[in-house]
Amino acid sequence: MGLETAVTYARTHQADFLEELCHYLKIPSISTLSQHHPDVLQAAQWLQDSLRQIGLEHVQQIETAGNPVVYADWLHAGPDAPTVLVYGHYDVQPVEPLAAWTSPPFTPVVRDGRLYARGVSDNKAQHFSHLKALEAMLQTAGKLPVNVKICFDGEEEVGSPNLAPFVEANQTLLAADFVVVSDGAMHQPDQPTIDYALRGVVAIEIRVTGPNRDLHSGSYGGSVHNPAQAVAEIVAALHHPDGRVAIPGFYDDVDTLSPTERDLLQKVPYSLSQWQTETGAAAAWGEPAFTFFERMTARPTCEVNGIWGGFAGEGFKTIIPAEAGAKISMRLVENQDADKIAQQLTQFVGQLTPPTVTVEVTVQAGADAAVTPYDSAGIQAAFRAYEDGWEATPLLSRGGGSLPIVATFQKLLGAPFVLMPFGLDDNRHSPNEHYHLTHLEKGIVTAVYFYHHLASAVTENSFS
Ligand SMILES: [Zn+2]
Repeated sequence: MGLETAVTYARTHQADFLEELCHYLKIPSISTLSQHHPDVLQAAQWLQDSLRQIGLEHVQQIETAGNPVVYADWLHAGPDAPTVLVYGHYDVQPVEPLAAWTSPPFTPVVRDGRLYARGVSDNKAQHFSHLKALEAMLQTAGKLPVNVKICFDGEEEVGSPNLAPFVEANQTLLAADFVVVSDGAMHQPDQPTIDYALRGVVAIEIRVTGPNRDLHSGSYGGSVHNPAQAVAEIVAALHHPDGRVAIPGFYDDVDTLSPTERDLLQKVPYSLSQWQTETGAAAAWGEPAFTFFERMTARPTCEVNGIWGGFAGEGFKTIIPAEAGAKISMRLVENQDADKIAQQLTQFVGQLTPPTVTVEVTVQAGADAAVTPYDSAGIQAAFRAYEDGWEATPLLSRGGGSLPIVATFQKLLGAPFVLMPFGLDDNRHSPNEHYHLTHLEKGIVTAVYFYHHLASAVTENSFS
């Protein structure tokens, strides 16, 4: 049977795969540093060569206003088979502080069953695993069970500024029934997690100005509305005392969580004591009608990221500051529109601002939340793939963070996403980034199963 020979191929070629991956990891494709631009291009070239070798077609680098997108496809599974778009990124984070690395970041080495190199977990080994799964199937069966398109980004670590315009301009080329992304991290090596939702995010800055300079509090105190106090008053009014967000209209578009979904989230083994150990906070806080895990993942939030104003140095300086400010971010859930929420907050801050001070609100670009049905054929296929390939039953959960590219793909291509991480935290973005060799094998095998299960899940059900 084709599936078994592909799995055997994947398991018996681990040494070759590791060697090949090390070549890729030696390329210091740091996107944020211009002196590494040639390396970023070299990584794109490496991928292009590798995709050709595997047997994918239409392999090309497509220019954007920034680094190229590497594209390839294999579309011979037939019109009834689903088409999967595989997203990954070939750029990596900078390495500083270099002294904290045990071995040089671009000289991959294996220690204690882990492969150490910058970019190994985020994201080279993870998308490489999909490529090797495709290779295993093409080498053994000469075909794939599904149609596949590859879209590898060279700017993820700088916020993918050119990806949305690229997707928008190439919707036909990228059209797919599912988008699969193996990035991010699972919490435990033996407990894979499939996140079917990610929150959106909006950030704003408010700046309150009062007198034309810092004033002597003895001379003017009692006659001037202190901007620091005004910021505190505004910030304090953003929540009700019980933790609910007080911005008018904030919850208007938020769906209620179904009992089924609440049961599902209840099963995620994340305890209050683990939360306490991680955060060191005195006690959990927030909307009383929801569990703390629901508040962390399935509910929208409003957070003060920073607040400043006046004198905070050593000793005393009795002044009324001329200005004060705060940075506020909001995590959004599905159906909430980032622009609309930013507008609601701006308006509310305006209403809260007394005539005694002036306020200026700056909105930073936001991203909408992304959610996909947890019973979609794609998620089901991933679920079965982890059971067979990882030999562990995955949990379905929501992620509290944001991955704007996922929302972009979903919005522009209308394709449900499948997030299936193969890595752990693995010191991503930190010194000594690594990847477990067992995860390399398990990830490739799991990916082989994923493509097979997706083909049958879609034939059995309809696309959902
Ligand atoms: Zn990253």
